[in-house]
Formats: sequence, structure tokens, C-alpha cells
Amino acid sequence: MDKNLTMEKLVNLCKARGFVFQGSEIYGGFANTWDFGPVGVELKNNIKKAWWKRFVQEDPMAYGVDAAILMNPRVWEASGHVQSFSDPQLDCKSCKYRFRADNLIEEKFKDVDVERMTTKEMEDYINEHKIKCPHCGNFNWTPIRQFKLMFETSRGTVEGEKDIVYLRPETCQGEYVNFLNVQRTMRAKVPFAIAQIGKSFRNEITPGNFLFRTVEFEQMELQMFCHPNESMDIYNKYKERAMNFVEELGLTKDNLRFHDHEKLAHYAKAACDIQYQFPIGWQELNGIHHRGDWDLSRHSEFSGKNMEYLDPYTNEKYLPNVIEYSIGADRLTLAIMSEAYEEETLENGETRVVMHFKPFLAPFKVAVLPLQKNLSEKAKEVYKILSKEFMCDYDEAGSIGKRYRRQDEIGTPYCVTIDFDTLENNTVTIRDRDTMEQIRLPIQDLVSYIQKAIKF
Ligand SMILES: [Zn+2]
Repeated sequence: MDKNLTMEKLVNLCKARGFVFQGSEIYGGFANTWDFGPVGVELKNNIKKAWWKRFVQEDPMAYGVDAAILMNPRVWEASGHVQSFSDPQLDCKSCKYRFRADNLIEEKFKDVDVERMTTKEMEDYINEHKIKCPHCGNFNWTPIRQFKLMFETSRGTVEGEKDIVYLRPETCQGEYVNFLNVQRTMRAKVPFAIAQIGKSFRNEITPGNFLFRTVEFEQMELQMFCHPNESMDIYNKYKERAMNFVEELGLTKDNLRFHDHEKLAHYAKAACDIQYQFPIGWQELNGIHHRGDWDLSRHSEFSGKNMEYLDPYTNEKYLPNVIEYSIGADRLTLAIMSEAYEEETLENGETRVVMHFKPFLAPFKVAVLPLQKNLSEKAKEVYKILSKEFMCDYDEAGSIGKRYRRQDEIGTPYCVTIDFDTLENNTVTIRDRDTMEQIRLPIQDLVSYIQKAIKF
């Protein structure tokens, strides 16, 4: 990561180069929503594909699902979300800004165990310590209210009659409710995992921070169902696999660390996250949680379906434990963009911005650039060949130097230039993004050359 990188620079590059736009921008935006543009969608898709390859495709014990976002509301009673998924919020009566009470306390007094406080205790604490509004400096608070984090909508069946349904605040419930289906149809033996990539929604007030925390986000996660006796081994194995994965994607060791949780949910046996040093500091990148048999026992209780597993070898009947591994696709995209960014000073004194994505993650693998406009017919032929295999960009406008710079900024590992020699002998130059060195290759060798470089 470049030491000069700030979140503001990254946001500006993303906007200028088509990675990420503000959501509903022409209407002045919509808080904490972002739209991935033509470049960003490729990067994010490549990240999701890489995750799926490592954790589903290459793992004989893992199965994928794609569950519905809207679920039977009883699911959220069983999970505990209906009862207790909320944030303690209060408003400043002077400036009308809204804050989370726990954040206000934590920012002022680092060692307070705010998670264990009741609403009343937080209110007393804020009053005793006269914690002022961080926005306007006044001390003029409303009482604290518990603000529900699940987005509610309603489903009308008969006119006038409406039932509340929720946009899912986490994807994992789609795996728990399908435990029996997957086990039966795939003839799966415990231990096995069910994996999913999908959107979740949380009605949070957030400090922004670009893609780090958004009200609508995409999770890549799996739930590993296992025997209680082997659950800690599997937990530790996933810690290692999770770390290896983010390193494979280009995040460097210096910017990664484990953070074991000391405070656990009442049902959890262990929990940790991997933190990454973002431009905003160390923050959670993903989580690995040992959830005991909480999830399956709750769904057994609320659905009335027995979710026990009968081991065909030992005849033991038991409720499997769950190891959860979850990582946010948007947050990981932010981490990868932060890591890849470099402002490089060139020999001639100029600087260039380069995104050093691993080639398999790069939005476009190759750009086809005719040196001059009258070479565009030949260039389009080359584009046609390459675009059957990879995402390619095509650019024939402006000086070649500027076109290279643009490809550097979106992290394209190779630029293929068509010049007058190409017409003579069907060879092109291919330029490497990182070294800026060029070699000459026959057109017919391009596909295999690039294929080798982008393997994951
Ligand atoms: Zn205020």
C-alpha cells in the first residue's frame, strides 16, 4: 500500500475511472450506498469467483447455495434478530445529528466495556461524564432509543392485510434452514460446509468510510457443520485458510493480523477476525466464529423439525456444531484496491498511479491499442480474438502514453499495441503494467501468454 493513499484519493480514483460511483448520484446521492461501475464490477466479480473457487469448487466437502433474501419471519425469531438486533441511538437536540450511544462512550473512554451496558447505564454514563455532541459541541441529548437494524417491508396477501417481512441482515440463515436439504440431496457426510455469496441489509447509522460499511452489502460466507469433538480443529483450520486466501489475493502480511475476541456471544465457543490496515486504520476484514450448536438447536425448536444428524458409521445421533467463516465482498474489494494503489515516480520525474492487482483479479486482462487510428481495423481483429477469452478494453483515442496511464490506473496487466509492423508480420508489442517493459509477440501466441499469467 502506498503511504500517500487516503480514502479521499481512492474515492476520487474510483469515481474518475469507473470503479465505484456514489449511489443515485444524479439525485444528490443516497447515504452509504455505492454503485459499482464497469471497471469495479469486474474486480468484485473476480474476487467472488476466486473465493468460490478456493472454498467451494476445490473443496469436496463444500456445497453452494443461493437462498432467497426474503425468508419466513420465524427465521428471524429463531435467530434472535427480531428480539435483539438493534443499536442504542440518540439525537443531539441542538444540531439534530444522530449518534450511537456506545460509539460516543467508546470514542471518549477507550477502556469502558460498553457492550455489557444497559441502555440506562449508557444514558447515566453520558450524563455523568457530560459527553458532548461531536458535531456541534453542545450537551443536549434526547433519551437513548433502541433502533432496529433489520429493514422491514411488508407483504400484502389480502387487501388491507399485511405481514411484516425483513430484508435479511445476514446470509447464513439460508444455509441453516437448508442443512437437511443439502445433506440429503448431496448425500453429504458431516463434516461438510454450505457456502453462499449474497446481499444482506442493515439499517445502520455509519460514519461512512466508503465501501467499508454500507447499509447494503454482499457477503461471501460458509457454515461448516461438524462434530463437537472436531470443531476446534476445524475452527483453527479455517483461521489459517482465511488468512492464506487474503494473502493469495495480494494483501501483504504487514497489513494483516488476527484478532481473537475476548467477549463472546453467550452461545459461542471461540471467535476471531482477521484485521486489515485500511487507509482508515486497522479494521475487521472477516470473521471466523465457533457457534456451537446454537443455530441448529434454535431452528429445531422454532420449526419443529429435528435437525439432528445420524452418523452412518457410528450410529451416533447429534446436533452438529457450526464453524462460520464470513467475509464482505465490498470490504475485501476496498482492501484490495487500497493494497494495489501506488503513486510511482518515473525516471523522467513524472508520476503515474498504478493499481498493482494480481492479474487474475484485474478488471480487464488486456487492452488493445492501435498506435494510430488507421490501424483500427487490424486492432479490432485482435480484440475479437482476445475478447473471446478475457475481459478486454479497446481504446484508440489520444496519445499512446495517456492510454497506457489510463490502463495503469485501472490495473490492466497487459497492453497490446498494434503498429505498422503488425500489418507486415502479424506481431504486436505487449507491455507489462508493473515493469512497463515491452516485448514483441506473434498475435497467435497472445492468448496462451496471457492465460498463463492470469492463472489462479
Ligand atoms: Zn449537535
